[in-house]
Amino acid sequence: MTDDSLRLPDVPPPEVVLLPASNDVQLEGVEQRLVHYAVHLAYLHWLLFAAPLIVMSGRDREHSASAMHFAGQALDLHTDSLEADEALLFHALIAFSAPARLVDYTVGRAPGGERFVHLEVAKP
Ligand SMILES: [Zn+2]
Repeated sequence: MTDDSLRLPDVPPPEVVLLPASNDVQLEGVEQRLVHYAVHLAYLHWLLFAAPLIVMSGRDREHSASAMHFAGQALDLHTDSLEADEALLFHALIAFSAPARLVDYTVGRAPGGERFVHLEVAKP
């Protein structure tokens, strides 16, 4: 195996695999540990489903009611576009990997019925 064989020319940069749902999604000020974990999840999502992972909300105004979002300690990831078995797999990957990254998670439904995963910095 040469060094060239280890290169992965088709691996996109993080900003291609992890996308905010809109310009209203505020990622600035979100705790780096959480953003880095989301980027890792986004690469898994891209590898498994050939699609970017969408961030529904970070430190956004509409989540000001949630103290964790307001403090930049939470992110919501859109998983509603996945088929049921795909969502099961992706949620299982989060369940297995989140504790080691000191992240708590819950699977929820947005007011419009869309499925999402809420990630937040684990409480000590
Ligand atoms: Zn949330």
